[in-house]
Amino acid sequence: MGGKEPSVVLLDENGIRCDGRKVDETRKVTIKAGVLKNANGSAYIEFGDNKIVVGVFGPRDVHPKHLANTDTGIIRCRYHMSPFSVTERKSPAPSRREIEIGKVIKEALQPALILDKFPRTSVDVFIEVLQADGGSRCAALAAASVALADAGIPMRDMVSACAAGKVADTIILDVNNEEDQSGQADMPVGYMPNLEKITLIQLDGVLTPEEYKKCVETAIVGCKKVYEIQKQAIHDKYFANNGD
Ligand code: ADP
Repeated sequence: MGGKEPSVVLLDENGIRCDGRKVDETRKVTIKAGVLKNANGSAYIEFGDNKIVVGVFGPRDVHPKHLANTDTGIIRCRYHMSPFSVTERKSPAPSRREIEIGKVIKEALQPALILDKFPRTSVDVFIEVLQADGGSRCAALAAASVALADAGIPMRDMVSACAAGKVADTIILDVNNEEDQSGQADMPVGYMPNLEKITLIQLDGVLTPEEYKKCVETAIVGCKKVYEIQKQAIHDKYFANNGD
């Protein structure tokens, strides 16, 4: 949330956003499950111009061993942006931002996972952002959830994700990079649609209590749309007669 002077009109007089969307419209989302042969589970997501691939390994032995928990399996999560994922070359070394996002995605997935049957093991989630365009943590979280399901990890629910935010004093669904940089607020939300529980909520920017409530409700509408696409991705891999 840079609060920068917008270089484009974020919301025109007809209520149309800088990328042509209406205020309550998400970008186009496509998800494919099972895209990596060497991972136990995987998924590829395109969320607008975000392009992200996720590989899941495990449950497997934990290294270093002292991290192992004798009562339950653990989940570890790495979020990494490739050097070519943004306009300026990004250093391949993990930044503070990437470490933070890995942590919040791990914590957003944890409530959905049933790992007590796998003591002393770890489920490792590797997220590679090939192209970022705002909302990459939500896109990564949605893809990671599909990859975990693809790996056959027992889950209480899918974790879906979508951001809402505020531009030109208006609450909008699914904040793109331009809106994130120049808008007034960005609120990524992770949500378990069947359990109706939020597992991730962050807020960059300032909202009134009423705007906050509307932003959460708007993001949940987006999460429910993304959930349908997540389900379809699993269905397409395991149930559709696609000749594979
Ligand atoms: P999110 O991608 O979850 O919205 P941020 O709000 O931190 O996370 O980032 C918003 C957007 O800013 C990213 O999606 C990406 O397009 C851009 N961005 C992030 N890091 C960099 C970077 N190092 N260089 C250029 N752009 C970046």
